Amino acid sequence: MFKKVLIANRGEIALRIHRACRELGIKSVVVHSTADANSMAVRLADESVCIGPGPAKDSYLNIPSIISAAAVTGADAIHPGYGFLSENAQFVRMVEEHGFTMIGPKAEHIDMMGDKAVAKETMIKLGVPVVPGSDGVLESYDEAKATADEIEYPIIIKAVSGGGGRGMKVVHEEANLEEAYRTARREAAANFGDDRVYMEKYLTTPRHIEIQVFGDKHGNGIHLGERDCSIQRRHQKVIEEGPSPVLKPEERDFIGSLAADTVRKMGYVGAGTIEFLYEKGKFYFMEMNTRIQVEHPVTEMITGIDLIAEQIRVAAGETLTLNKDRIRFRGHAIEVRINAENPETFMPSPGKITRYHAPGGLGVRMDSAIYEGYSIPPHYDSMVGKLIVHGRNREECIRRLKRAIEETVIEGIETTLPLHHWIIQEPEFISGEYNIHWLEKKLAER
Ligand code: ADP
Repeated sequence: MFKKVLIANRGEIALRIHRACRELGIKSVVVHSTADANSMAVRLADESVCIGPGPAKDSYLNIPSIISAAAVTGADAIHPGYGFLSENAQFVRMVEEHGFTMIGPKAEHIDMMGDKAVAKETMIKLGVPVVPGSDGVLESYDEAKATADEIEYPIIIKAVSGGGGRGMKVVHEEANLEEAYRTARREAAANFGDDRVYMEKYLTTPRHIEIQVFGDKHGNGIHLGERDCSIQRRHQKVIEEGPSPVLKPEERDFIGSLAADTVRKMGYVGAGTIEFLYEKGKFYFMEMNTRIQVEHPVTEMITGIDLIAEQIRVAAGETLTLNKDRIRFRGHAIEVRINAENPETFMPSPGKITRYHAPGGLGVRMDSAIYEGYSIPPHYDSMVGKLIVHGRNREECIRRLKRAIEETVIEGIETTLPLHHWIIQEPEFISGEYNIHWLEKKLAER
């Protein structure tokens, strides 16, 4: 087992990784930018190393600085968290060339899934159903037009290297296709340094259902059930829950087994998520995330398994202790993402937290690195915490979540908690009858 792990991230996930290390008896080193010198992760980690100024490109994305920090502190392994370098195959190769272990999948799998066109082709070969669409990359507008005619409108154009809900264009009729196709390529080039795009049929009432998977270095592969992430705004997740309120037991078994088989066939190592759209009883593969995800606590709450500890164990070469027959799913969990944003306009609200009280009680978990007097730096993502609640069933979980939101105090900045408080009391949320477009429609009607 490792003696020391370097955490190449910030915020709540840096703290989350530190906690897992502590419990495993592993020392933690956290790297940080000058803007994060006063972060909770820096305060709690065994060691910390400043790797550059506030802007991420000069610090959290600075590979040579991070590798030097690992060398100087004598770390054995690096955990990249999510975002930043977590899906950068070049980083994995450099980490390994320098004699450290990466806590994550193999570089070849990151490459394969990072190119969304290759990812889809791979899944087709493995027998996984995908959303109907173009045969890989669209080479020209003529090809885009022919594909759209074949799969029929509405369609969505997506960037091959896109991510984080960005780089997508929905087109409802041919009149808008050419403009959308050209803009999509231009924006993809500007945002991702890769102008390649592909096309899919745009599903009008799907749910986003994803399967948590795990593989080890000995050929074992399992799934840990699903998370339903259909409450979205601008293709980004707002609330996640598990189990999905709509899946029938046989559908759950089908998609879980399919995902676990896929992991075994790929020889995938570590934590991953296979994302699907689900509509009218059918699943369509969308993409695979080759990292731990923001919403992983939902799975932890219903299985009682520490996914970060499991990532570390697998990277150290241990066999997955989790055996399919021993995983027990208990109750229901919901996570709300707390962003430092105005809950109505979604304008970022960085600043100083003047008062903070975290909720508590049975089944309530707050994963956040904020504290009273903490100033949220303007350089990074607006998510400042996640509130995750567990209940014996969905109804209890929703009631507990409402109570937990009501007792949370965060002053000095605006947060999206009032938005969550409203969503979870809406009849469609309570009945579970929502799809990926529901929240945007409700917001437009407000
Ligand atoms: P990203 O990597 O940016 O998260 P995804 O491919 O996972 O991109 O898609 C993000 C979200 O966009 C999905 O959860 C879904 O809401 C929406 N989306 C993607 N593809 C489609 C599609 N074919 N039809 C309808 N919605 C889609």
